[in-house]
Amino acid sequence: MAAAVVAICVDPRLSHELIRVQVRQRLDRSGIRADRIFILNDVGGNPGPNFLNTIQLLTRMREPIVFCAVLHHDDCLAAQHGLRTDLPGAADRMAAELSRANARPPVLTGHIRTQNNQLLWSDEPEWRYVPFTFGPGAPVSSSGQDPKTRASKGAAG
Ligand SMILES: [Zn+2]
Repeated sequence: MAAAVVAICVDPRLSHELIRVQVRQRLDRSGIRADRIFILNDVGGNPGPNFLNTIQLLTRMREPIVFCAVLHHDDCLAAQHGLRTDLPGAADRMAAELSRANARPPVLTGHIRTQNNQLLWSDEPEWRYVPFTFGPGAPVSSSGQDPKTRASKGAAG
């Protein structure tokens, strides 16, 4: 058994099931196998007592933690009241607590659109699906030569 641990806010609009599906997809994309995905709620998604207790439980069960994430959402009441740790700070706190428990899984961050529970990972920007070009400039032909070069070479020889 291996576990993934994801921290989200207590906001009642956040759906564990919709978020779990998207975390599962991310694990698949990253080639990480986790049998169980624990989704933990705390105010603002801050890694608090709930997170610490879960880490302790998993340690006691000898279940390796292979993936962790902190996910913030928009329109967050905790953030509006100044109770939400900033995302890098929350991830650092999480990594520090994991390290104390001798676990060193990747700790990712992301954002949830509260309206539809869509999850956007910080390291996978939305625009990655837009075709990318290197801008103007003629592509070099596969042979790497053009007729003029060949002609001058012929003249020299
Ligand atoms: Zn919130």
